[in-house]
Amino acid sequence: MAKVHVLQVDRKPENTAELAAGVAAGRTVDDWQMPKDSRPGDLVIWYAAGRQEYIALGWVDDIPVMVKEGPGPYRGKVGRMESIKPVHRRKVIRDCGLDGGVESYQTVDEGLVANFLDSLGLSHLTPRLRLAQLCPTCNQVMPLTGICDNCG
Ligand SMILES: [Zn+2]
Repeated sequence: MAKVHVLQVDRKPENTAELAAGVAAGRTVDDWQMPKDSRPGDLVIWYAAGRQEYIALGWVDDIPVMVKEGPGPYRGKVGRMESIKPVHRRKVIRDCGLDGGVESYQTVDEGLVANFLDSLGLSHLTPRLRLAQLCPTCNQVMPLTGICDNCG
């Protein structure tokens, strides 16, 4: 099953502007800080720290790379970005126990994924996570093209 990562937008105007630019373009404009083990096909949900709301989604589009400058240590690309109907942090804690406000980014425990997406009104996405294909050679999630990034 593909993973779900919660990424944060902090209160800085340039950070919220970068997310808005990504939603407008449908993909991240610059690479975004994310967990090292993020893989193509994983779902990303953005949490806005200032508003304490979940506000956007997207799909990991490439394997993240290590960076020496700026937010890191790993940054990656997200595609098919769109805004979602904002959902408050407290509602999600009440529904499934997940607190998006505690870490700069986090991967949702597999056992919480269905309830988390349900809390966000995104339960229709749960079957898509189950459909993610694994490469038979290296066992990592393949992009929807079916061509493995590692093995070509
Ligand atoms: Zn492979």
